[in-house]
Amino acid sequence: MKNKLSMETLASLCKRRGFIFQSSEIYGGINGFWDYGPLGCELKRNVREAWWKNIVQHRENIVGLDASIIMHPKVWEASGHVGGFADPMVDCKSCKKRYKGDNLCEEQGKKLIKTEKGFALPEGIKCTSCGSKDLTEPRSFNLMFKTFVGPVEDESAIAYLRPETAQGIFAQFGNVLATSRQKVPFGIAQIGKAFRNEINPRNYTFRSREFEQMELEFFVKPGSDQQWHDYWVEERMKWYQSIGLPAESLNKYVYKKEELAHYASACVDIMYDFPFGMQELEGIAARGDFDLGRHQQFSGKSMEYFNQETNERFVPHVVEPSAGVDRIVLALLCNAYCEEWIGKEDQVMPAEPGKQPPEGFEARTVMRFHPKIAPVKVAVFPLLKNKPELMEKARGVFDTLQKWFPSFWDVSGAIGRRYRRQDEIGTPFCVTIDFDTLTNNTVTIRERDSMKQERIEIAKLTEKIHETLA
Ligand code: ATP
Repeated sequence: MKNKLSMETLASLCKRRGFIFQSSEIYGGINGFWDYGPLGCELKRNVREAWWKNIVQHRENIVGLDASIIMHPKVWEASGHVGGFADPMVDCKSCKKRYKGDNLCEEQGKKLIKTEKGFALPEGIKCTSCGSKDLTEPRSFNLMFKTFVGPVEDESAIAYLRPETAQGIFAQFGNVLATSRQKVPFGIAQIGKAFRNEINPRNYTFRSREFEQMELEFFVKPGSDQQWHDYWVEERMKWYQSIGLPAESLNKYVYKKEELAHYASACVDIMYDFPFGMQELEGIAARGDFDLGRHQQFSGKSMEYFNQETNERFVPHVVEPSAGVDRIVLALLCNAYCEEWIGKEDQVMPAEPGKQPPEGFEARTVMRFHPKIAPVKVAVFPLLKNKPELMEKARGVFDTLQKWFPSFWDVSGAIGRRYRRQDEIGTPFCVTIDFDTLTNNTVTIRERDSMKQERIEIAKLTEKIHETLA
């Protein structure tokens, strides 16, 4: 049984070990922006790579795209973001705290009311900070970051940082179709930064103002939307489990008819059980021909697809699985975190929060990442650093492993302490080079979760680690 993790505990480990830092920390930080340190950026890279392999590399009918962040402002008029990408902002007149209206209501078990002009607060909503009921009416606040292109800062130079990567795909639909010679059904995938001027960034990296998305636009024949939507929901659920999130920590939220956007025929959110509640990792929506249709209308360029075999011409419908890298990384960190007490014979018991381990036991924090996702795959330890022959042998092993895997070299402290340091960053394997290695070319390899040690030939090390990662 795992104890409930506090986000402060996780953030403290992430800072101490170099997963995540506050952006611009030396200047006091900037709310809603985060930097990924040496281990965090490896972790993030592994998430992106796992997604790209699964979505693009392993499928013949999906291709990639890397579109620019700033696009023609008309893109955002066509997409509806200029007119409608707004959140209801509510301020407490008493303590000045600012809220996203829908979140404030949900926290108090109520729903924000939709009115003709915008939104209204239901009866009885209070400021969660000071308790005052003296709140402003919800005002619409557009979440897009504005900037200017070129030296003149006037209306005609206004541009936006993209609030999602999807529109880059829709805008290039024609070029990709013409150059990749794909046939419907086919998909275009993209990974990249997105920016939203969130009213209330919170829950660590969960709601940030700069984040990364992994989006797939899967174009289908009208009428097959439901079938492909079901397919992608199942595919995506399997993928989350393949990177180490257990089925019981995941959930699907199926949108009711009245919750859907007017153009959508279905939407399912994949949710993860975070310490701060069940929250969205990814949304999978069947969006009909809304996006291509709007770009066709605004650009005057045809977005039709012509099927030569059947002589049919149509604007494809789209199914969109849209995931956030940062939220997935956060889910993986939460899921991996584990505190245990271990005995001299490697007996294990769950740590009790705030208590010292019993006599003969010591505490360890272990990040149980799936080996595929772990930032460092293997650490190499020479038993003693003052024995040149051990150091030289160990260096040889390290150089070989480093060609294949992100590897870590550590010579300082007792072996037990070196194990603990690797456990805390989730390294699946530690390899120790000792005096026997010098005579028979074998090493001990120790596995993170079971803490079992095994003696194997140096020549078999790479293969063994590869097997676990496959
Ligand atoms: P939310 O309701 O939480 O604001 P959303 O439904 O607006 O999210 P989408 O527009 O569907 O989110 O974006 C797709 C994905 O992008 C989300 O599932 C999430 O993983 C990620 N994402 C969206 N906004 C943020 C954010 N502010 N910070 C981090 N990730 C985000």
